[in-house]
Amino acid sequence: MKKQERADLVRLRLQAMYPDPPIPLDHRDEFTLLVAVLLSAQCTDKKVNEVTPELFAVAGTPQKMLELGEAEILRLIRPIGLSNSKAKNLMKLSQRLVEHHDSAVPRTFEELEALAGVGHKTASVVMAQSFGVPAFPVDTHIHRLAQRWGLTSGKSVTQTEMDLKKLFPIESWNDLHLQIIYYGREHCTARGCDGTKCEICRELYPKRTKAVVCQKPS
Ligand code: SF4
Repeated sequence: MKKQERADLVRLRLQAMYPDPPIPLDHRDEFTLLVAVLLSAQCTDKKVNEVTPELFAVAGTPQKMLELGEAEILRLIRPIGLSNSKAKNLMKLSQRLVEHHDSAVPRTFEELEALAGVGHKTASVVMAQSFGVPAFPVDTHIHRLAQRWGLTSGKSVTQTEMDLKKLFPIESWNDLHLQIIYYGREHCTARGCDGTKCEICRELYPKRTKAVVCQKPS
């Protein structure tokens, strides 16, 4: 099967399994989504969703986040990994939004990536999920599955993002990145499979017998 045929089959299977994938991080608007995505770095969405209700109740806007202050933010997000640096970044990010963006979340990659703690993946999630702009945020699940499905060499997340954008129609990107994440969490974990067990890989690679060795994200 050629690479494009594999990509087409993956897209059809995932669309059938997750026809309308929900956004996994709870939020109220663009600002609270941005905060939730920032908090989710190296942490599960479930854990983030446990701490954000209390945080958003008192700091649902950049101004209120600033007024809350770093020590109180830290107290509220402490159950999350990297909480010290995340609390600092939330203060800096909120300050920049108030001072440079009239307290609104900007709508360009360049402006988003200039915010503290916001890299290309976080900016891509916000562009896709808040503003409906086609983007393909690549997390560890997507990076791993794209290799197991033979859609990328997996040299880096940047390369994986470029490869996937070439293989999938632009109108499918925003649902597809979520569909791959859901599939990865349910079926295709780092230790749960070696690339030979479930239906999608068996269809893509019926003769595969050896484990797939995946490159870690860089
Ligand atoms: S066979 Fe394994 S690696 Fe392939 S999609 Fe299924 S769970 Fe993932």
